[in-house]
Amino acid sequence: MQKIKVTIWNEFRHEKNDLPVKAIYPAGMHRAIADGIAAEDLEIRLASLDEPEQGLPDALLASTDVLFWWGHRFHAEVADALVEKIQRRVLGGMGLVALHSSHMSKIFRALMGTSCTLICRVAGERERLWTVDPSHPIAAGIGRCIELEREEMYGERFDIPDDGHLIFNSWFEGGEVFRSGVAFQRGLGRIFYFAPGHEEYPTYFHADILRVLGNAARWAAPVLPPQELRCEKVPPREQLGRAR
Ligand code: ZN
Repeated sequence: MQKIKVTIWNEFRHEKNDLPVKAIYPAGMHRAIADGIAAEDLEIRLASLDEPEQGLPDALLASTDVLFWWGHRFHAEVADALVEKIQRRVLGGMGLVALHSSHMSKIFRALMGTSCTLICRVAGERERLWTVDPSHPIAAGIGRCIELEREEMYGERFDIPDDGHLIFNSWFEGGEVFRSGVAFQRGLGRIFYFAPGHEEYPTYFHADILRVLGNAARWAAPVLPPQELRCEKVPPREQLGRAR
């Protein structure tokens, strides 16, 4: 069986520097996600910002089928040249799963072409993610909704393009709503934005959240072998000039 090569990239600084976060995710959120979605058909590699080449040397990127991305405070540190490489790879067919505060990452904004801004509040409130499209592969095995005891509120308006396919729509205790699970295609690549995952809450241990992430890894896997898209000069398919 050909395994799907998943690379989970994380800033991995909150978990080293903020004690409450470290207490929840001592080995990092990327490790919790990797452990939580581990399966026979997935080959999972971890990467983080402070590693050489910001965790994504060319060889790793070139062998990645689906890239998970968790970024927050240090989006600006990610090198523009790396972002451009990731963007080319997504357009050529690699999948991207953008998590939580990665809505403001350079790579997600580059692929969306909009500001990706939203409203937010950290108040430990209840969130319900309502399944809007139960027929989508990313929602497989999820019931009517996912209940989270405590999450950060992300609310509308979320400035994303209107070509996204809505899979989950969230309600928050404080009254706001948010498009919390949205699928896109850019070039040949599939992109899924999934909002839950604030670093101060144990969201990446929640069974339904992990199920969604595992589903997303499989859905976003390239349909064709990833390729470099370029313009081509081609000969005519028919003989030219006959109508003159
Ligand atoms: Zn957050």
